[in-house]
Amino acid sequence: MPLNATPTPVRPRSRRVTAALLASAVSVCLIAASAPDPAVPLGVGDRLFPTLGNPGYDVESYDLHFTYSGSNDKPLTAVTTIDAMTTGTLDRINLDFAHGSVRSVEVDGAPARFTEAGEDLVVTPAERLLAGTPLRITVRHTSDPVSAKGQDGGWVRTKDGLAMAGQADAAHLVYPCNDHPSDKALFTIRVTAPDGYTAVANGLPEGTRRSRGTTTWAYRTEHPMATELTQVSIGRSTVLHRQGPHGLPVRDVVPTADRAALEPWLKETPGQIAWMESKVGRYPFETYGVLMAQAQTGFELETQTLSLFEKELFTQPAYPKWYVDSVMVHELSHQWFGDSVTPRTWSDVWLNEGHATWYEALYAEEKAHKPMEKRMKAAYRLSDSWRAGGGPPARPKGPQPGQKISIFRPNVYDGAALALYALRQEIGQRAFDRLERTWVTVNRDGVASTSDFVDLASAVAARDLRGFFHAWLYAEKTPPMPGHPDWKSDAPKARKSR
Ligand SMILES: [Zn+2]
Repeated sequence: MPLNATPTPVRPRSRRVTAALLASAVSVCLIAASAPDPAVPLGVGDRLFPTLGNPGYDVESYDLHFTYSGSNDKPLTAVTTIDAMTTGTLDRINLDFAHGSVRSVEVDGAPARFTEAGEDLVVTPAERLLAGTPLRITVRHTSDPVSAKGQDGGWVRTKDGLAMAGQADAAHLVYPCNDHPSDKALFTIRVTAPDGYTAVANGLPEGTRRSRGTTTWAYRTEHPMATELTQVSIGRSTVLHRQGPHGLPVRDVVPTADRAALEPWLKETPGQIAWMESKVGRYPFETYGVLMAQAQTGFELETQTLSLFEKELFTQPAYPKWYVDSVMVHELSHQWFGDSVTPRTWSDVWLNEGHATWYEALYAEEKAHKPMEKRMKAAYRLSDSWRAGGGPPARPKGPQPGQKISIFRPNVYDGAALALYALRQEIGQRAFDRLERTWVTVNRDGVASTSDFVDLASAVAARDLRGFFHAWLYAEKTPPMPGHPDWKSDAPKARKSR
């Protein structure tokens, strides 16, 4: 959804009747009515994921309804309803979708033809859509948690059900969508599951309905969300409730059998939210909490209002307490940096990870006496190697074939936090703190880019910082650290040929 747009419900219009009549005519003369060009996958021009997102429309809301059988290796049945507004003339509507079979598609209530092209579902409405037209697309489909191609992400199969990990480009492995963070939308998520399971999704509950051995759970977001941040948890779980700062409802989703063992960690969240609020201002959403999944993902993920964690992070004694705390704060800080303020393109992902790493390190400094300066000096030493391996922070190298998650390299974590440290050294603590607060306030619920950050930093510091940022964000070599001229970066090691 565009920045600061007020979401309005879209109703199918009277055109529906004409469309229905036309659709029945179309269905008997498919060949004659076919559009001349073959359907092709489209994208919004993201440098790292060229076929992610689709041109010609803005999604305003998604209504997802999944029906779970009780087996996490069987496809779920699903209905995805998308309310959108066209931004250009469209003969076809491309959606991103893979890992499911499509049973039917309707546009404004009328049957529409559809075909697959790469990871796009290409829908041909009965009539051409002009710019500025509200439309409702209804897709009846399956959603397969077992990937035929061994692709990362989308559904995560847990010991007791399913969770979701859609970053960066995997939400469309679960449901049809405009799968790019530049198009945020409101979500209603419903899950029907056999009795004995608990389903939780982003946002606040809208009630449950029981019927013949199943329960349908409904959740709704109050704030727009990027598709990559969708969370749907289905498991033998318990939902624990507590209160955060100024009455914020905090709810955690944990395996029922582990609730007592996890409580010492769970009770830390309200204090961590208060700490983040003391740094950057009010928590941006209607609720927060952690989802402790019984799965080995190899990562934690800041799904909006309900961050996904591997349960083992909390039960494995090898991890020191300060480390687990700082990982919790990392995902929490993403609710401001990455979720409320979403990157315009995936090359801007350093804005998410650099800031989350920054607050993770700051929390460790303040609460566990792990000096930020020491961590940054170590990062500086490795920075040239990280840039050689992954690209400079704001121009990261693309994913390796078959490993899309590989854009998440050290260059966008500690490498980008290092650029923020350089900025604080350059403009001073007071200006830096004001920039951070202002950034999450003016871009709240929005989409923002690297150049927006550079412009705001320049405005807050009252000086042109474009040259400074260009060196720190786009150069092959790490610039000298302001205030630490003695810091050195090791030469990147020559790559071994494979
Ligand atoms: Zn992160």
